[in-house]
Amino acid sequence: MYRQDTIAAIATAPGNGGIGIIRISGPDAERILMKVFHPKGSGTHKPESHRMIYGTLADNGETIDECMAVMMRAPKSYTREDVAEIQLHGGNYVVSRALEICLKNGARLAEPGEFTRRAFLNGRVDLSSAEAVMGMICARSEQEHKAAVRQLNGGTASFIRKVSDELYRMQAGLAACIDYPEEITDEEGAGALKDGLEKLIAGLEESLDERASRMIHQGIHVALIGRPNVGKSSLLNALLGEERAIVTDIPGTTRDTVRGEMTINGFRIQLTDTAGIHDTEDPVEKIGVERSEKARREADITLLVLDGSEKLNDTDRELLAGFSSEGAVVINKTDLPQEVSEETIQSICPAVKCVTVSAKDSDSLKPVKSIFENYISVSDQLALTQPRHLDAARRALCHLKDALKTLEAYTPDLAATDLQAAQAAMSEITGDNADEKLLDVVFSMFCVGK
Ligand code: GDP
Repeated sequence: MYRQDTIAAIATAPGNGGIGIIRISGPDAERILMKVFHPKGSGTHKPESHRMIYGTLADNGETIDECMAVMMRAPKSYTREDVAEIQLHGGNYVVSRALEICLKNGARLAEPGEFTRRAFLNGRVDLSSAEAVMGMICARSEQEHKAAVRQLNGGTASFIRKVSDELYRMQAGLAACIDYPEEITDEEGAGALKDGLEKLIAGLEESLDERASRMIHQGIHVALIGRPNVGKSSLLNALLGEERAIVTDIPGTTRDTVRGEMTINGFRIQLTDTAGIHDTEDPVEKIGVERSEKARREADITLLVLDGSEKLNDTDRELLAGFSSEGAVVINKTDLPQEVSEETIQSICPAVKCVTVSAKDSDSLKPVKSIFENYISVSDQLALTQPRHLDAARRALCHLKDALKTLEAYTPDLAATDLQAAQAAMSEITGDNADEKLLDVVFSMFCVGK
């Protein structure tokens, strides 16, 4: 149940920092603020809305901190309720003590995401925009941030609205068909709706780009594989521009997987340097080789690294034979006299992409970066990127396909039920008619104070 009480929480991250903020929201926000905060020189008059004031925070006459405070009266506030914020010196003790004083004066400690939940319940944002706030806070890359901004600005909501409007139009058409069987036959009614339904299904299928969504939120996974000593660790370090993996000329130095992250066009590229793949009886090396196989299975792109300065050996040939066109072969050590050429590779694996580099020369890495760039092609207008939204849209799509089947069997009344189910699934995304359980799940992922 939505409670009309006044909540308070620390809005800044724990630990010592330049400033720490206490946020209070609810009908008692102003009373609590004026009880704990004392404006300098201006007495205890009503604070002007949206204006910072300077003063002190005190507890029963004991000064706790010198601070700034702002009152934002409803409805022009984050929650659409009266909101007060106090900016203190950001020390753990000061901020915790300030919260304690607010609670002592009548506020209740806010639950995770409760400020945003109130913004949603008071109609300031739809559920997808509310979730975008958390997406913004947690964004780890430019692309993830861009997706959150699109969602916050209503990109997702307006897409859902368009689909919903179309669904309502179809439901009205079906209702007419059911109510006036003498004027509209089932065949006529179904025929008129089939085109629209097919278009809607096609549009939704296009928006359900799971690969793109995964790329936005997780980036792409790249595994560097190959036998020991071909230069996998050196290549990882060169791509990252830092000494992440240990490089030696002793084969088997990388006994476990080593990970690193770089960014290309705002996407995260997660690189995994694997233990060199070879036959071994050493139990530790065996685990390393198994992990290499796992990294390879889970990778979006696998780079098979070869030492261009040495003739291909049996392990290289075996790896090449089992290599798929999903990856690319990287002939390394081109700064040394070459024993392997692109033609050699092409004669064994005609379909596979092949590039040449020297891990010792960062300028030569462009072809490898191009492989990543070519892989990441995502529309910057994608409306659905959150797993929860994709799940709801997938269910809506199933109902729409069922509706199409029932229309083809000329049973409009059954199709109406499918359309209603699709409508309900789509409205879960924006939170229209959302029940408490759904809201609990969504807002439990938020931090306290947001
Ligand atoms: P890994 O076992 O496949 O990870 O190979 P490493 O990265 O540890 O490299 C093995 C040896 O090859 C080291 O002595 C590196 O310095 C050397 N090496 C790696 N890449 C190159 C390269 O492009 N050119 C030259 N000349 N040596 C390289």
